[in-house]
Amino acid sequence: MSTAPSPDTPPDTASGAATNQTVPQPPVPQPVANPCGAGVSNASVSNSGSSNTTLLSAAAIVAVMALAAMLWRWVDTRPAPLMAGGASAIPAAANTGGSRLAAVKTAPKPTPVSTPTPAPHSIPKWAQGTVINQVEVRPGDKVFALTFDDGPWPEYTEEVLRVLDAYKVKATFFMVGQEVQRRPELARAVSDAGHAIGGHSWRHTARPRDPVGEIQRTDAVLKSALGYTPAIFRPPYGLLKNGMARQAIKEKQAVLIWSADSNDWKKSSASRIASRILSQASPGGVALMHDGGGSRDRTVAALPNIITGLQARGYRFVTIPELLRLRYVAPPKKPQKSKTRPGASGSQQSRNAQKTPRPSPSSASPGPLPEVPVRAGG
Ligand SMILES: [Zn+2]
Repeated sequence: MSTAPSPDTPPDTASGAATNQTVPQPPVPQPVANPCGAGVSNASVSNSGSSNTTLLSAAAIVAVMALAAMLWRWVDTRPAPLMAGGASAIPAAANTGGSRLAAVKTAPKPTPVSTPTPAPHSIPKWAQGTVINQVEVRPGDKVFALTFDDGPWPEYTEEVLRVLDAYKVKATFFMVGQEVQRRPELARAVSDAGHAIGGHSWRHTARPRDPVGEIQRTDAVLKSALGYTPAIFRPPYGLLKNGMARQAIKEKQAVLIWSADSNDWKKSSASRIASRILSQASPGGVALMHDGGGSRDRTVAALPNIITGLQARGYRFVTIPELLRLRYVAPPKKPQKSKTRPGASGSQQSRNAQKTPRPSPSSASPGPLPEVPVRAGG
């Protein structure tokens, strides 16, 4: 709130302020002599000092005020283009016209609205229907995604949530449809805590009789629990050829595998689980762990070391949808035809540059993935 009455001149009060400026106070006849031809003579007469002078000057004042009012009305109703030239040069007019102008001028600014922040669970177009192990990110951007499969599970899902919350880390949970049906409130708690959720089939089987139904039922139960259909899917055991991944791709979901495997489903100690992730972590990578499917005490115990260990190396944690949005495509290399071989780091860079224009070829091919369910994570 400004104290002085004049500085704050919103559009409505502008005309009032303007009247104060242009219409002079009645007892000052002289200054009005010049503005317009019509009343000038009267005004000059009023100086000659006779018995009629008071009457005359009064008439002159009235005439001048009427003139001023006319002038003001004329100025006020002028079309806007006249003011466009110099809003500051015509303060009285600019206050009304100018503010309108300003509104027009600032209108294009909110264009960022046309590119609103995407919904947390949405994924970029390039990732839709793509199989992904890891995401190419901007050099130096040390992002990493922790993922937990097979929940929501009694006890362990909440314990994982507690650890993640303690370190203010967001992660991604790939949930089994029938477990969500049993514990929808737990699925909701994960979502409400700001973590991302993906589907992980209905029954977590390697050889589904109805692969399409496995995906669709899971999508439906997640939608009813969370209010949205997940845009990401992880096939159980990382298997891509039993029909489920194909259906997820058909639905434009991103099919997420992993780049760092904790093997926490094996009888591993917490420190072993942690060291596996720490040794395999790389920027844009995805870690596979489990919050369901059995006892996950050791996973929960390993989690603080994984988080602090990676943070100490400069990593920050993102959800899978966030990671997908962080994908970086290096600009095409210009000196492609030059015969001079770049240095060691340069050649590394050029290799990356060649890789990135496509949604990482390694991720698109299911080559290294197990054909047989060896209970190999996922
Ligand atoms: Zn699984």
